[in-house]
Amino acid sequence: MRKTIIAGNWKMNKNPIEAVEFVESIKNQIDTDRYDVVLCVPAINLIPVLDCVKNTNIKIGAQNVFFEDEGAYTGEISAKMLKESGVEYVIIGHSERRQLFCETDDMVNKKVIKAIEYGITPIICVGESLQQRENNVTIEFIRMQIKNALANVNENDTSKIVIAYEPIWAIGTGKTATTNQAQEVCHEIRNVLAQIYNQNIADNIQIQYGGSVNSKNASELFNMPDINGGLVGGASLKNDFVSIVNYK
Ligand code: PEP
Repeated sequence: MRKTIIAGNWKMNKNPIEAVEFVESIKNQIDTDRYDVVLCVPAINLIPVLDCVKNTNIKIGAQNVFFEDEGAYTGEISAKMLKESGVEYVIIGHSERRQLFCETDDMVNKKVIKAIEYGITPIICVGESLQQRENNVTIEFIRMQIKNALANVNENDTSKIVIAYEPIWAIGTGKTATTNQAQEVCHEIRNVLAQIYNQNIADNIQIQYGGSVNSKNASELFNMPDINGGLVGGASLKNDFVSIVNYK
C-alpha cells in the first residue's frame, strides 16, 4: 500500500555551507520510519547533502533534469549524472519551471520518461492557476496535464512515480487550498490514473499536495484519503520541516 511521502523543495536557496549546516541540524530529528522523506536541493548542493545524509534514510532529489544523456546542452544535468551521483528523486514540471522557463507538457513527459529509464523517481507537478479555478476548468486542466505527463509511461513503471498537486495560487502565497479542495483534486487525479492504467495502479501511486504547507496545516491535509503527503517549499528551509515530517 502507498506510503506517505514528504518532500522539501528548497528552490534556489542555500549555498553548500548553509545546506550542510541545515541538514546536519535537522537530520537526527526527522522520523524516516513512518514516511518517505526527500530533500530536493539546488544542483550545487546535491553532492555535499548526499554525503551529509549517507547514514540516514533521508533521500535526496534534484529540482530539474534534462532529457538527453549527454552532449552540448550548456547548463543542463542529465538523469544519468543524477543517478550516478546517488540522487533518487527529481521534481519535474514545477509551475515555476513551466511559467518562468517555458517548460511544456511535452518536455515534462520526456523528462519523466528519462528519469524512469534511469531509476529516478519523478515527482510530477500539476496544478491550476487562479483564473482556471475561477473559470471552473481545474479538473479538466489537471486531467490533461496528467495524461500528457504520462504519455507512453508503461504501467510497469507507475510504481516509480509520484504526483504532486500544487495549485499555482497556493504556492509561496500563504494561501493554502482547503482540505476539501485539495482532496477533491487529488481524488480526480487518482480517477484519471485509474482510467489511464487501472484502479489498483491508481490506488498505489503516491499523490502529494503542495502549496503553503506548514506545521499547522500539514496534519489535516495529509490525513485526507487521497493525499499521501506533501511537497513543501518555503517551510522546508526552516525547522518547521521537522514538525511537518513528524506530523501526527
Ligand atoms: C513548492 O515550491 O513546491 C511549494 C509548494 O512552495 P510553498 O510551500 O512555499 O508554497
